[in-house]
Amino acid sequence: MPVNSTDPPMPQLTETDRELFPVTAGLDSGENITIGGCSIPDLVAEFGSPLYIYDEDTVRHMCRQFAGGFKQAYERSHVEYSSKAFANPALARIIAEEGLHMDIVTGGELVFAKAANFPPDRLNFHGNNKGREELAEAIDYRIGRVTIDSFYEIGLLNEVASERGVRQKVLLRVSPSVDPHTHMLTTTGVLDSKFGFSIETGAAAEAVERAMAAQNLEVVGLHFHLGSPIFELEPYSQAIDYVLNFAAQMRDAHGLRLAEFNPGGGFAVGYIGERLPPPISAYASEISEAVRSGCDRYGLDEPLLTVEPGRAIVARAGVAVYTVGGIKRIPEVRVYVSVDGGMGDNIRPALYSSRYTVRRVREPYATPQEKVTVVGKYCESGDFIAKDVDLPPLEPGDLLCTPASGAYAVPMASNYNMTTRPAIVMVKDGDARLIRRRETYADLLATSLV
Ligand SMILES: *Cc1c(COP(=O)(O)O)cnc(C)c1O
Repeated sequence: MPVNSTDPPMPQLTETDRELFPVTAGLDSGENITIGGCSIPDLVAEFGSPLYIYDEDTVRHMCRQFAGGFKQAYERSHVEYSSKAFANPALARIIAEEGLHMDIVTGGELVFAKAANFPPDRLNFHGNNKGREELAEAIDYRIGRVTIDSFYEIGLLNEVASERGVRQKVLLRVSPSVDPHTHMLTTTGVLDSKFGFSIETGAAAEAVERAMAAQNLEVVGLHFHLGSPIFELEPYSQAIDYVLNFAAQMRDAHGLRLAEFNPGGGFAVGYIGERLPPPISAYASEISEAVRSGCDRYGLDEPLLTVEPGRAIVARAGVAVYTVGGIKRIPEVRVYVSVDGGMGDNIRPALYSSRYTVRRVREPYATPQEKVTVVGKYCESGDFIAKDVDLPPLEPGDLLCTPASGAYAVPMASNYNMTTRPAIVMVKDGDARLIRRRETYADLLATSLV
């Protein structure tokens, strides 16, 4: 684009912030942060505060980075978006258009996938305690895969499939006893976990035998998921080797054919500039290399490879916006800046001590004057957004935003303290459309009976 050399340079986000914010983020002429060509203050004026802004271009960009990155490293691969990170029909439509698969973990997530007409053959049903009704609904929708998580489920799913005269394709979720060094509450592939059949204890071998003997189940492969977010590459290759060795033993013992192999998700994202994740291409080459060399070592045919990013597809696409209210200064101790949201719309700081970057929306790089702790409006001392962050001077009415808020914030939102959950807009090329309206007081009363 030709630029008149006498124009002042357009202000920009810093290099680090460009990694955390959506790919379209920038600053307008008044130095307000913009997403998808929309100035945040304009969006708040139209849709209110707090507000979640999702950038369509970033969602598509991440889908292509994953699908392309893995295809390049391992031709027979596909990417399955883990919908619990953010389940919304408008998003599911984009995921479907980008050709990705998707996983669900409840009947509710199935309903949302159906609402988006998501192709059933591209759906995979996870979860450690799926109910009979949920399994029946999934089979009736002709779901592509069910990933079995317990002995109880082997019998239950076989029964439900048999009642419907269906032979359901399944994967078995195994636990490889590998610690991915993430938060205790988001570690899933260790021995002491509620998820999956442990290889170490012999439960996984018994599960393979029982599932293969079940008339209405067709075991097409194995799955594991280590946890999230995983900033290291090593745990993936370690677990892959262990599970492929197990697959070869199961081939010899029970004739298991590993047609499909799914080493889960958990790919990390940048929340703060000090801790950025490895590039997607690094995960792709580590995982592909481990699968190829493991198959070689144990004499297995190379399976179809599926990876399941949730967070890494949507986190960067979403920005949360809050309005500053009261500011409390405790001399020599702390400055508390209260905003109009908090743990009701993003419980991750309270639950996992997760850290976020906070930026003032107007002139975000004005010189910081003091360290502040940004807290929510909920009646819990653990309700905070970010502790001890450097921010330019703030006054009531100022807007703050947190990038990388697109995953596991809105889906875990609650009505705690009888608050209404925020509106969500999707932005693209200067347009914003509401993809979920703000809740009203009437919504809060709608399910209660007096
Ligand atoms: C949650 C989950 C994922 C996705 O984890 P992310 O950290 O969002 O990538 C993938 N697979 C399974 C089985 C999960 O439970």
